[in-house]
Amino acid sequence: MRIGQGIDIHAFGTGDHVVLAGVHIAHERGVMAHSDGDVVIHALCDALLGALALGDIGHHFPPTDARWKDASSRHFLLHCSGLMLEQGYAIANADISVVCETPKLAPHVEAMRCNLAADLGCAIGAISVKATTSELLGFTGRGEGIAALAVVLLEQRQGAPVLSAKDDSELIAEISRITTQAEMDG
Ligand SMILES: [Zn+2]
Repeated sequence: MRIGQGIDIHAFGTGDHVVLAGVHIAHERGVMAHSDGDVVIHALCDALLGALALGDIGHHFPPTDARWKDASSRHFLLHCSGLMLEQGYAIANADISVVCETPKLAPHVEAMRCNLAADLGCAIGAISVKATTSELLGFTGRGEGIAALAVVLLEQRQGAPVLSAKDDSELIAEISRITTQAEMDG
């Protein structure tokens, strides 16, 4: 078993939506970020990399790299998910808290859990997404930004496959194939 934790914060800026766990959520403000500013996925990636002791998301995807400008953060998550499988681990469970006054996340939580479970190759029941406010206190309370905290527990699985996917859709298929096979093997 390995445990990891991650945190991510972005300031609100101009825009009309935020992206959280890959879900586009209409909002009167966007977030200031090099990528799509998905705090949920960024915190989760850092938790995964932390559990594997493989550095942090800034090391794997430098914000100075033009390739990651406006990139979908699901690409980052798939990369981390692939590293996890290659190291011989699978998700036992993940627990994520998002801190903001707005937008309200309750209507989007199931879609968020679904995206994360798909990218991580685990059951939706292994993924928890919670939302809280900071009671109008601090930068989240003043509506200046949004924060997410993630904790993951990884369990050792049989085998450490070498992934050969060339793009994200191939990687999703490969992760799904490997994890479904593992379930069938019991
Ligand atoms: Zn971030």
